[in-house]
Amino acid sequence: MQTYQLLKNNLKILGLNTINNIFAAEAENALKNNTSHIDYLNVLVDAEIKDKRERSINYKIRNAKFPCLKTIESFDFPFQPSINEQLFKKLTQLGFIEKHENVLLLGPPGVGKTHLAIAIGLKACDARIRTIYLTAEQLMNELIIAQLNKQLQETIEKYTRYPLMIIDELGFIPIDKQIANLFFQLISRKYEQSSIIVTSNKPLKQWGDIFNDDVIAAAIVDRLVHHSHIFRIEGTSYRAKEKLDINELNSSS
Ligand code: ADP
Ligand code: MG
Repeated sequence: MQTYQLLKNNLKILGLNTINNIFAAEAENALKNNTSHIDYLNVLVDAEIKDKRERSINYKIRNAKFPCLKTIESFDFPFQPSINEQLFKKLTQLGFIEKHENVLLLGPPGVGKTHLAIAIGLKACDARIRTIYLTAEQLMNELIIAQLNKQLQETIEKYTRYPLMIIDELGFIPIDKQIANLFFQLISRKYEQSSIIVTSNKPLKQWGDIFNDDVIAAAIVDRLVHHSHIFRIEGTSYRAKEKLDINELNSSS
């Protein structure tokens, strides 16, 4: 077998696909530019590492199951002055995940809670931190099914292993007391082990209504809040603003 073909096969066996794709063209470049062997090898290895990193980030983003991709850069902070921009941007440095702290984003619909939660999640994926997104409804359904199949502990362990879990829209749908108990078990297990971002349209003092039980609600809030960053977002819905902007455009044309 010719050396060229042998090298191609060996690179394939090693899974070095980027190098496999570029080594021949880079060899010609190196010849033209009189590049040293070490520099040539470095170009190849560097390209492979960059691709590997990108693949790993894309894999993390796919696995996180975000409903859409929203970035911190596309968030209009001046529109939402109730959020301390500096404090929030500090979260995107992800120190809170290392410290197993939580983030609570509270406020009425349309103020950007989901956007901000996903934006932090994306930063975590960028840093190759395993992240998972679920709505509260999806999570409760999964916990009920796990309980029925006698797999509650496995499910709780699975989510505890994610360094970052996003639970979106807690409070949209009231939660039965028994299901609240399953949720409490998850929150207790994750307490001081791995981070959660929760978004809710209800202030903490109304969480008794979400869980149909003041005692269990207090126990859940207690654990979530102990090491946490709480953002209470006020103000008007961005959706309504966008609608107004469109109406203004239409009426002025
Ligand atoms: P919530 O989860 O609080 O109901 P969302 O995060 O779903 O609100 O926001 C509704 C829509 O408005 C989304 O498309 C979101 O990207 C956008 N949005 C909300 N607030 C802002 C903002 N301050 N800057 C840019 N887009 C925003
Ligand atoms: Mg939302």
